[in-house]
Parts: sequence; C-alpha cells; structure tokens
Amino acid sequence: MRTGFPDFRLGSVLATSFTGTLSERHGDAVERIPTPQRLVDWLAVYGLAVDSCTADQLDLARELRESIHAAATAAAIQDPLPASAVQVINDFSARGRAAAVLTPEGDRQWRLSSAACVEDALSVIAADAISIIAGERDGQLALCASPTCRAAFFDTSQSRTRKWCDMNTCGNRQKKARFNAKQRKDPRSAK
Ligand SMILES: [Zn+2]
Repeated sequence: MRTGFPDFRLGSVLATSFTGTLSERHGDAVERIPTPQRLVDWLAVYGLAVDSCTADQLDLARELRESIHAAATAAAIQDPLPASAVQVINDFSARGRAAAVLTPEGDRQWRLSSAACVEDALSVIAADAISIIAGERDGQLALCASPTCRAAFFDTSQSRTRKWCDMNTCGNRQKKARFNAKQRKDPRSAK
C-alpha cells in the first residue's frame, strides 16, 4: 500500500527499529513517523495496535525515541549513559500498562490495557530498550558505519562484526558508492 510517506525500516529488534523511524540523523534526516497515524501504523506492525494517537502522543513517542537513541549510542561506544535519557526511558517504562501473554502456539505477544493507548505501547518499547542496553540479551549495541547514519543497532551476528544498521539501505549504499568511485576513475565511463 502506498501512503506517500517514507517507508518503514523494519528490523527484528523492537527498540532499535523504533529509533530507526528517524534515519540519516547525520545527513538529510528522514522522519518515518511524520504523522500520528504513521505511528499507529508502525506500532501495529510490531503487534502493539493502539486505538488512536494524538499530536501530543506523537511528541511523547519522539521524546522516548531520541532518549533511546542517546542511551543506546552511549552504550555502543561505552560512554556513561546520559542521565536525562535514562530518566525518560524509565518514566515511559513505568507509565504504560502492558502484559506479556503466551499464545497457544507458544509465541509471546503483548496485551495492552483496555484503553490500548500509545503510552502502553511506548512502555513496551522502553522496556525493550532497557533489556538491550542492560546487556540482558544475546547481542551487542553498535553504531552504523555510514557517516550520515550512525544509527545504534543491535548486532546479533555470531562474530559481532556487523557494520550497518541495515544491509538493504546503508550497507547497499556503501557498496554502490564504492562502485561509483571506481567508475569515476575509469575515463571510459565518464558522462
Ligand atoms: Zn545505517
């Protein structure tokens, strides 16, 4: 379905996929949740369906997003965690109501409170961020090698040598840039 909005970059880790809704932070930034409805759409993709979202709730979501980004970036480069970011993440984690439930098939799902509000969904994201920043999960936070991106991502590769937040975007672009540089050196390909 084409919406006219930037596509989502969907990763397998909830918290870092959420920070990825703002990409190219060090270049021409792309806001992938530009409207409240796009946040609703994004949450639904991750099994966190909410009934509605206001402009204020979108602001809250972005506040949490940037705090996770700041804390995850610090963790990736082994800097002390910024206290203000930690505070925001903790506040969001405590604010919402959501419960982990087990499906008959043995999968974990999230059940939001009966209000199914944005705050419930954000609490799940905040808790996910806490679990990766605290080092509870198998993987390691790292920063994307792309100089215009520098997104924090969670490297679950066995060797922990992943370089890009996303192979299809940053990884691919790097490959293309190298290819184009080679072409430029070759005068036969000059336009
Ligand atoms: Zn990247």
